[in-house]
Amino acid sequence: MQLATLPRFPLATTPTPLQRVETFELALGNDSPAIYIKRDDLTGLAFGGNKARKLEYLVADALAVGATALISEGAVQSNHARMTAAAAAVAGLRCALVLDARHGTDVKGNLLLDHLLGAEVHIVPDDAARAETMEAVAAGLRESGEMPYVIPTGGSVPLGAASYVAATLELLQQLNEVEEAPRRLYHATGSLGTQAGLVVGARAFSAPYAVYGVAVSHPREALIAKGISLANETAALLDLDAEFTADDVVIDGGFVGERYGVATEGGLEAIRLLARTEGILLDPVYSGKAMAALIDHIRSGDLSHADTVAFLHTGGGPSLFAFGTALL
Ligand SMILES: *Cc1c(COP(=O)(O)O)cnc(C)c1O
Repeated sequence: MQLATLPRFPLATTPTPLQRVETFELALGNDSPAIYIKRDDLTGLAFGGNKARKLEYLVADALAVGATALISEGAVQSNHARMTAAAAAVAGLRCALVLDARHGTDVKGNLLLDHLLGAEVHIVPDDAARAETMEAVAAGLRESGEMPYVIPTGGSVPLGAASYVAATLELLQQLNEVEEAPRRLYHATGSLGTQAGLVVGARAFSAPYAVYGVAVSHPREALIAKGISLANETAALLDLDAEFTADDVVIDGGFVGERYGVATEGGLEAIRLLARTEGILLDPVYSGKAMAALIDHIRSGDLSHADTVAFLHTGGGPSLFAFGTALL
């Protein structure tokens, strides 16, 4: 399969803007690098985010195999689950979501949107309980005559990751227009589909930047292993003759804080600073933690005025409404 002919069901509004954030740079001091934010929070599809791109290929595949329902899983505030529900609505498919209650069961933020979007929501106590319920829900749908299509956590399978190979082309064209060659591309990394796609894309199209994933969960070693295998599987899907190793999958594990889904001071500071300088909203689970890494690298002198960096804003805004005043 080749990227140009990979079936795609249109869901995202692209190209998303690439935006220089000079007021934010100024707030970070005289030694700030030039910072360009790739606004994948503006993909559209029920408030946007990186999953819109992945779902274009996943939904096309679901329709091609005759599926009548999408099933996916995540935490209660999963952005991926919310966008899967929206994608199913657009494609005329049923949607079932298996969500774990690690962070409570209050019907707000993404969980509220899941219901509004018409998804059938199954809540389980923790992430270990998800797999079994996924199977039971799939079996139930089959018994009632439906043909379910299962999308793993975060849509992080080669088809989903391929969307960030395509997004790399979009980003490189925009960088070419502004004549910039960033040193690093920062982004939050969770289930690794985005990073695997970006890494494959960077190699395939000789990007100037190093892809720099900022982890939002522990342990880092498992994330690197998954990133390597997913990058290799994605390259194979696209008939690219390339091999990826640990040198290609750079993951910073220093900004997770306690664990997945728990806000950090650095992440909250990043959210407030970008909001108050540029009116751009990050989120406490993913993009805020990634921006905390970039801010830290500027303050520590690892990046300087001579550098240019890019930051992929992966979305996540709806979870702000689940955190509420804890953000202030
Ligand atoms: C899912 C998600 C990520 C991580 O993307 P992966 O492909 O799962 O690594 C980052 N930011 C936000 C807002 C997300 O919803």
